[in-house]
Amino acid sequence: MSENLSSLIQAGHPLISIQTVDEPRAEFIARDAAFALDRNVFIWSLTTGLQPVTRIQAGAPVVTAGNSLPALEYLKSSHPLNTVVIFKDFAPHCKDARIHRHLRDLIIASETNGNCFVLIDSQSLPEELRLFSHHYEIGWPSTAELDDAVKQTFRRVKRQSQGEITLRLTKRDHEQLLQTLRGLTISQAEKVVAAAINDDNALTAADLPRIIDSKRAVLNSTGALESIAADFNAADIGGLKRLKVWLKQRRGGFTQKARNFGIEFPRGVLMLGVPGCGKSLCAKVVAADWKMPLLRLDPGVLYQKFVGETENQLRQAISQAESMAPVILWIDEIEKAFASASAQSADGGLSKRMFGTLLSWMQDHRHPIFIIATANDISALPPELMRKGRFDEVFFVDLPTHASRRSILEIHLKRRKRDPEQFDLETVADHSDGFSGSELEQLIVGALFSAFSNQEELATCHLLNELKNTQPLSVLNGERITELRNWARNRCVPAD
Ligand code: ATP
Repeated sequence: MSENLSSLIQAGHPLISIQTVDEPRAEFIARDAAFALDRNVFIWSLTTGLQPVTRIQAGAPVVTAGNSLPALEYLKSSHPLNTVVIFKDFAPHCKDARIHRHLRDLIIASETNGNCFVLIDSQSLPEELRLFSHHYEIGWPSTAELDDAVKQTFRRVKRQSQGEITLRLTKRDHEQLLQTLRGLTISQAEKVVAAAINDDNALTAADLPRIIDSKRAVLNSTGALESIAADFNAADIGGLKRLKVWLKQRRGGFTQKARNFGIEFPRGVLMLGVPGCGKSLCAKVVAADWKMPLLRLDPGVLYQKFVGETENQLRQAISQAESMAPVILWIDEIEKAFASASAQSADGGLSKRMFGTLLSWMQDHRHPIFIIATANDISALPPELMRKGRFDEVFFVDLPTHASRRSILEIHLKRRKRDPEQFDLETVADHSDGFSGSELEQLIVGALFSAFSNQEELATCHLLNELKNTQPLSVLNGERITELRNWARNRCVPAD
């Protein structure tokens, strides 16, 4: 990694920008790259001022803590040569015209004095600076870096603790631990591991489930990816027979055996369809069945939660998923990513760029990532998404047939500890044409409440009563569903 940055510095790039949430690692990589080239190094931040640093230590500040202007003036007047200056969180300062001008002057002078400025920021640089900076991606920590972090954390906790600390991990447990930590920054990984050791003064295989939970919590509170617990199996899905067979055939698609057989990684599937018919459920079942972690990306969240940072967050999410591969990446309601990409864009081209980034990644990436994209609103989907090569298959998930309604009712009765044999499900299925899977589930929930409040055991009559009082979405929104079906008829494979 640092070799690449070294070569950028050596090639004479005067301004290199690293955008990351992992500042300590970025700083380490930048220092390492500079020292590998025998350059002098200064580091500046608002709170430490401008300090010369060596491989061993940071020297006394030559400019004290505070605004970046005096530091830039110092660099201009002291005429350093072949020096790498690392600025931390500089982006907000660039808005000041004087600071901006000083930096420009220093960059121009770099052509002759061999200096290089490395900006490490958690937010994007302003457009005018981005134009003449070279963006450098530090990527996510490698397995070797994580291994190092685990060992160092163990040693640190051991040093700090009063009592005995036990380490009991087989080679396989250790590999699993490192696999689990992938997709976290070094400091996040260190915190998760330290917490797992501290709770019982030991690091053993018993900590793995806890580490998985902690990682889930870290991911869910930081970026745009959500880690989903998936403890379902194929028997939890009623109907969708064809989709289930297709997925079952691709189950071993990520193994070496499949590679040796001449099979490439399956790329993914697009599931279009009526809301509440089991698309999300399928994503969870596949993850559990294939024993792969499930990451959910909600493109809508990228627009709402990360205003101004949408594109960057999308890129981060993609590289994070890559670092955790093999994974299932579930892009929920993918149409939200393209809200205005297909129509006249009202967001300054943002959704068009998002669309471009996502599409080209889907086409080009070579990581073991299986994409499950789901969509309800086909009118928002640009035709390019459906082009061959993006997905291995496009399925249409329709309202359940009679037989599927029966099996969905059975599944949800069993889940509520009722014997389906005790119900006339044939009649309930006859009368529930147009109900989605989730509406059938709600039917049982409603019937249970009504039986409970009447102090009766649940029976077919409660289900039929509930049916009479429910208007399914397919009736309330009939036109849209007919339109969806007509559209899907010649374009998609029926999931059932
Ligand atoms: P949306 O597009 O609104 O997210 P969806 O198609 O993804 O809908 P799910 O979220 O998977 O639908 O369905 C909601 C719930 O309804 C599921 O968690 C499950 O309990 C039940 N359900 C839906 N379809 C089925 C099915 N085919 N078999 C069993 N349960 C189902």
